[in-house]
Amino acid sequence: MTFKDLNLVAPILDALHAEGYTNPTPIQQEAIPIVLQGKDLLGCAQTGTGKTAAFAVPMLQLLSAEPQKGHRNIRALILTPTRELAIQIGESFTTYGKYLNLKHLVIFGGVPQGAQTHALRAGTDILIATPGRLLDLMDQKFINLQHLDIFVLDEADRMLDMGFIHDVKKVVGRIPVKRQTLFFSATMPPEIQKLANTILVKPEKVEVTPVSSTAEAIDQSIYFVDRKNKKKLLTYILNDKKVLSALVFTRTKHGADKVAKDLSKDGIIAEAIHGNKSQNARQNALNNFKSGRTRVLVATDIAARGIDVELLSHVINYELPNVPETYVHRIGRTGRAGASGIALSFCDAEEMDDLKAIQKLIGIKIPVVEAHPYLAEESGLVQINPPKNKAIVQRPNAVPAFNARHKKKPAGQFKKW
Ligand code: AMP
Repeated sequence: MTFKDLNLVAPILDALHAEGYTNPTPIQQEAIPIVLQGKDLLGCAQTGTGKTAAFAVPMLQLLSAEPQKGHRNIRALILTPTRELAIQIGESFTTYGKYLNLKHLVIFGGVPQGAQTHALRAGTDILIATPGRLLDLMDQKFINLQHLDIFVLDEADRMLDMGFIHDVKKVVGRIPVKRQTLFFSATMPPEIQKLANTILVKPEKVEVTPVSSTAEAIDQSIYFVDRKNKKKLLTYILNDKKVLSALVFTRTKHGADKVAKDLSKDGIIAEAIHGNKSQNARQNALNNFKSGRTRVLVATDIAARGIDVELLSHVINYELPNVPETYVHRIGRTGRAGASGIALSFCDAEEMDDLKAIQKLIGIKIPVVEAHPYLAEESGLVQINPPKNKAIVQRPNAVPAFNARHKKKPAGQFKKW
């Protein structure tokens, strides 16, 4: 199927063509016709599936069919949990709408509101917003949503995770009842299902790439390593020029700073991105990474949400997440839209349970890289029939294997734990 088959107008087809898109992704194939018909949509899809275009493209088409004369009222609202996502969605509207006469505006918290209120006064067709700033500006009467035709709730499950669900409900209570609603969520916990039931009317459901299959498409490996050696292992891996760009995940903000600092000391240019940094600092770090000026970006999960970097070659889990779904979200940052990606995960003795939970979720045993210099210096974290108490069996004679770099053993050769 091509985009032409989806009955898109020429200016949008031209913009997609200019972007180098030839074929719609599965969610685009399914969602675009539904949205064009004016129906409500429940989309189960995560970032990386092409979901932004799945809603942005048909929205642009619907809105351009009824151009506004004079002052532009807000006719479409996209609510998204993070600033980074909001900015990226804004960029998508710029890209796909570049040959149309529609205006969009992105607003988010953490920055002074002056520029945003100034732009709001000038009028916009499409508003992309994070919940807190939106409500704030609505309360101050800078935003009037009474002309809203289309409402998009993006990453609903993340809204819940991040404690924004109350704000989302507040926004829903203040927009016209008669509207088209598009609801996207990677997962459907009961509370999200309930929310979907209350805000959607006879929705068509579209579901793509269940969490596990996304993970299978990425080349994954585990490095068993002592906690104290993670730093050295990371430098060792990043000294390989084949790692063109790497997004490194830590569990904590402090951890992210420390890892970035340690890497810089080792001569590897790295920046950290997390919630304690100012919006400007985060955006600069992200821009440096996107443009290739920085090769390594160290991030916490919240800061990394929605980071969309084309051609990200490696995701490195410096620490495993304790929520297994987070692993899938993290590694989904690489291997976007069919490109191949590599995800490396460090696992120390205390993270074995996290690893087990991840493997259970994705339904595969992640191959283990046995040949790396920090494997068994002290504890030999190799799965040799561990006793029931999950202790790690020592392999005292294991020596650093510098010359057998990155040689993987199929996980099947290791005993089950
Ligand atoms: P998303 O899931 O919206 O975050 O999109 C993931 C990535 O895929 C983004 O970098 C998009 O620019 C890209 N993308 C979206 N649709 C297509 C398509 N039909 N063909 C190629 N790349 C696409």
